[in-house]
Amino acid sequence: MGLIPYKNEPYLDWSDEANVEAMRSALQDVGSSLGESYPLVIGGKRIETDGEIVSVNPANPSQVVGRVAAASEREADMALDKATATFETWSRTAPEARARILLRASAIIKRRRFELLAWAAHEGGKTWAEADAEVAEAVDFMEYYSREMLRLKDGVEIYSVPGEESRYFYQPMGVGVTIAPWNFPVAILMGMTSAAVVTGNTVVMKPSEFTSVIGAKVMEIFEEAGAPEGVVNFVPGYGSEIGDYLVQDARTRFISFTGSMKTGLRINELAARQIENQRWVKRVIAEMGGKDAMIIDDSADLDAAAADIVASAYGYSGQKCSAASRAILHADVHDDVLEKVIEKAKALKIGAPTEGGPDVNVGPVISEPQFEKVTNYIDVGKNEGETLLGGDPGDPSEGYFVPPTLFEVDSTATVAQEEIFGPVLSIIQARDFEDALHIANDNPYGLTGGVYSRNRDHLELARHEFRAGNVYFNRKITGALVGVQPFGGFGMSGTDSKAGGPDYLPLHMLAKTVVERF
Ligand code: NAP
Repeated sequence: MGLIPYKNEPYLDWSDEANVEAMRSALQDVGSSLGESYPLVIGGKRIETDGEIVSVNPANPSQVVGRVAAASEREADMALDKATATFETWSRTAPEARARILLRASAIIKRRRFELLAWAAHEGGKTWAEADAEVAEAVDFMEYYSREMLRLKDGVEIYSVPGEESRYFYQPMGVGVTIAPWNFPVAILMGMTSAAVVTGNTVVMKPSEFTSVIGAKVMEIFEEAGAPEGVVNFVPGYGSEIGDYLVQDARTRFISFTGSMKTGLRINELAARQIENQRWVKRVIAEMGGKDAMIIDDSADLDAAAADIVASAYGYSGQKCSAASRAILHADVHDDVLEKVIEKAKALKIGAPTEGGPDVNVGPVISEPQFEKVTNYIDVGKNEGETLLGGDPGDPSEGYFVPPTLFEVDSTATVAQEEIFGPVLSIIQARDFEDALHIANDNPYGLTGGVYSRNRDHLELARHEFRAGNVYFNRKITGALVGVQPFGGFGMSGTDSKAGGPDYLPLHMLAKTVVERF
């Protein structure tokens, strides 16, 4: 297939008035389609259910974004059946044909870009720039994974002994269950699902309950792109009601999960148990939480460091697995960096992305349970250390807004150890660089990390010893680019699957060796 070389989708320029106008008009259009109902889609058929998920705008919880049918075990069973039957044909479909579905999905996302941004603002509470980065990432996944499948379709080179031919190639696995979080409801749901589909598997796709309307839009895109009926089955529902069922079923071949450590570990445990009629060891691809640290040493560019700490900590209200939630500052620069961080964080504009413009930097947190969780951690932080900024969430009935909050704490404090997943940053002072690295590594997670330094020895030490899957030097630690910064964590952050990287697609396939003697 003659494709142009892969490149990342550029972000929109919000200083261009035409983009601002297009976004306002999309917000209006989407605003007039709020409250609609969305069914399940199993084998191409629309299925209504008794259960319902009512999805709301986190900046205005009285505004219903949509009503989505919630699957029970009955519908989960139907979806697994359909996916199992469809695997027989889809797994034999040419890789090029499968790749073309992703390329068409990419084109559709680009055509529907502003509409998707508007849904992300309404249902995800995303600022315009955050929504745009996510939708661009979804395009990147489609473009990258389609090319990756073409690279891998004939297998990879191995050696042969004289008189024999050894071939090493990949085959589809079976039915995959993709389970996504709410924080990247377009990019992660589409990324996980498209990787499974392009490699020849069929999928039962479960979005987060909090972003099920966007899940329905993702399903529309797969259908419009020409995924045959039954290849992707849209099964929204409550994880607590259908999650275990989908994971444990004997028809499930693999589970591709992104979400919290707690859920990921549960899935890993349940998937490991063999049940009646199960004929394989289930594979679990699990990307989980983080407690990501940025180290600023005494040689760093302090202005740039402070700006990137603020961007990494408070972008999308800290609700990124890659978000900086610990800033570890060398004692000699501690006061200077802190002053700059506070100044920059104070300048952030908080507001409803659906109401404000491109200048809103911080929107709400996603939901009432998340608001309560973050608020509880803020109470803990107030007792554990000094509150340097924020700390006073508003009235949740008027939107789940939590202001950027900053604590100075000891490295062992709860707020410096546990994932909060909100706009809460812990400042920790370190004696020297070795101490800072020790503090950064002294945590069960290991997703992203950053070092700001001009000291070559420090950077080389961190290159090898910083225990995280994605380590960034002298820049922000969020916004990993597909194909450029393959993403996945060490430790309790998951199975290090490196989404958007060269090792990702083979996780969804069986590698086969065939040897013929002549
Ligand atoms: P979560 O509560 O673990 O939920 C993730 C998904 O799992 C949701 O679809 C959820 O459904 C489902 N689920 C819940 N219980 C389940 C069960 N027993 N079996 C199967 N599925 C079940 O996580 P979240 O709050 O949505 O997302 C935030 C977390 O994701 C954070 O920890 C963040 O760090 C992590 N994350 C990691 C990455 C990464 O690449 N490492 C990227 C993004 C986010 P319901 O929505 O119905 O509960």
